[in-house]
Amino acid sequence: MFHKCCIFNCENNKDVKEKKFSLFLIPKDIKLRNKWLKIILKINGKVVKPTQRICEKHFILMIFKDLIHVG
Ligand SMILES: [Zn+2]
Repeated sequence: MFHKCCIFNCENNKDVKEKKFSLFLIPKDIKLRNKWLKIILKINGKVVKPTQRICEKHFILMIFKDLIHVG
C-alpha cells in the first residue's frame, strides 16, 4: 500500500511510482500532534487526518519549527 505526503502540492507526491523519500506518521503524543497539525494547517490551508503521513522534507520543517518554539 502506498502512502502519500499529506502536504498539498508536495513535490514528493508527483512521482508516486518511484518512492525516493521517507514518510513519517503524525505523532501520537497529543501535544506534539497538535503542534504538527497546526503547522500543516498553515502550509496546507486545510486540516489533515492524524493518521496521515508527512514526507521527510516536511518532517525536517516540523523538527525545525519545534526547536524554534522551545528556544
Ligand atoms: Zn511532503
